[in-house]
Amino acid sequence: MTLKLADIPDHEGFVAPVLPGGELSPSPSAFTKDFVGYQATCSCGWTDRRRYPATPEGAKEAEYRWWSRHAAPTSAQAPPNWLVVKSDLLCRQIVNLTGERPLAALALLAQVESWQRTLLDQAVTAARKNGASWAEVGQAMGVSKQSAHERFKDHVDA
Ligand SMILES: [Zn+2]
Repeated sequence: MTLKLADIPDHEGFVAPVLPGGELSPSPSAFTKDFVGYQATCSCGWTDRRRYPATPEGAKEAEYRWWSRHAAPTSAQAPPNWLVVKSDLLCRQIVNLTGERPLAALALLAQVESWQRTLLDQAVTAARKNGASWAEVGQAMGVSKQSAHERFKDHVDA
């Protein structure tokens, strides 16, 4: 059984049986005869460091660790998935419009750019006011701490 959370569809949690050698089994305990414990893992590569006993209670505790240590903190930083879907749709529609009526697409993109820049500055300002580090701002945008700082230090007074 995998664990899922709607806002982070790329993360599938899994309570892996720990084999006697210490490595994690990729299949559920029902198919693993010899295992010595349970450890929570995720499809993104995250693995909990704590190991729980090879009991149903241990499996439940490991499962809870995926939620509390990984899924909840990750989803707190992820945009709501329905909004990501909308954003992807807008992008595809603009690509189509570019193919059909490039000047109309250009007019729309100029409009998007005007509010996108303002909103980006506002989001960085709000994140900094909430205590986010430049490293966290960079991580949210998929750039380095240095790039984030260079780009926004003059726009953001925090
Ligand atoms: Zn994950």
